[in-house]
Amino acid sequence: MAILKTPLAFTGNPLDRASEKRGDVHWLAEKRAEKSCRILPFWRTQPLLFGDQEGQGPFELGFLDAQTLCDLGVPDGEEVLLGLHGSAARFARDVSTLEDPSLVGPLGAFREARPAAALLAGPEIAILAQGKALLEWHARTGFCSVCGGRTVSNEGGYRRTCTACPAEHFPRTDPVAIMLVTDGDACLLARNRRYVSTSIHSTLAGFIEPGESIEEAVRREVFEEVGVRTGTVRYAAAQPWPFPFSLMIGCYAEAVSKEILVDGTEIVAARWFSRREVRDILNGLHGDVSLPRPEAIAYHLVREWAEE
Ligand SMILES: [Zn+2]
Repeated sequence: MAILKTPLAFTGNPLDRASEKRGDVHWLAEKRAEKSCRILPFWRTQPLLFGDQEGQGPFELGFLDAQTLCDLGVPDGEEVLLGLHGSAARFARDVSTLEDPSLVGPLGAFREARPAAALLAGPEIAILAQGKALLEWHARTGFCSVCGGRTVSNEGGYRRTCTACPAEHFPRTDPVAIMLVTDGDACLLARNRRYVSTSIHSTLAGFIEPGESIEEAVRREVFEEVGVRTGTVRYAAAQPWPFPFSLMIGCYAEAVSKEILVDGTEIVAARWFSRREVRDILNGLHGDVSLPRPEAIAYHLVREWAEE
């Protein structure tokens, strides 16, 4: 197995990013002014979702036209171009200065992005990821990291330029290696200190450092966290993970040593599970152990290996 077969949450964005046109300020202003333009407001990183107020679906992203946003009293804020849906532009707007988010009440509600992802259809989750990651980057990049001057947004939100020096700043994506360590018919699952539930066991993961290949990061992280040496690393799939702007790079890593020594700081427990045991976990037959939710690539790395 080399590539995951399952479509992952936060992938499959249907919008045309219009990357060759968005640098044209006149084109951008025209698209923004068209009646068909829709804007998705984010309040303090939470997207607006349309849907039943009782918490019942179906839910969809709360794209509104500019006039409706204005009529509701939603404030102006940083706007970024998400892309084109047909010929109609789709933007996201940061409305974090809004004091009372309940004023959108008749239409829907602002919801935390992670639970929202579990409520939306696939293509909409991908748009949520794009908007959230981009707006969070803008919110943190108001000042130049070179000289401290103010920065302004250009190219529909895909670049910020400094007003005091020639520096240009581009949206950030932080690469994270996430890997299932395997040894023949067994795989290694671990419990991270940060997991709320004590039953959840998952793959290992860590940020790729400057000057490091994906394979090197995989081998280093696995050894640091559980003391196991790994050899061959195979790429499986990647998943945008907008918390705040990571890219999870999923891999399988073959163990060349078996003894586990957990680091005790990040990882509090780890052990080898047979393929049969993992299938039982997937079927809910293993009372003490559960996997992360299916929105996470970790779940699919484990499941596809177990079902091989
Ligand atoms: Zn500067």
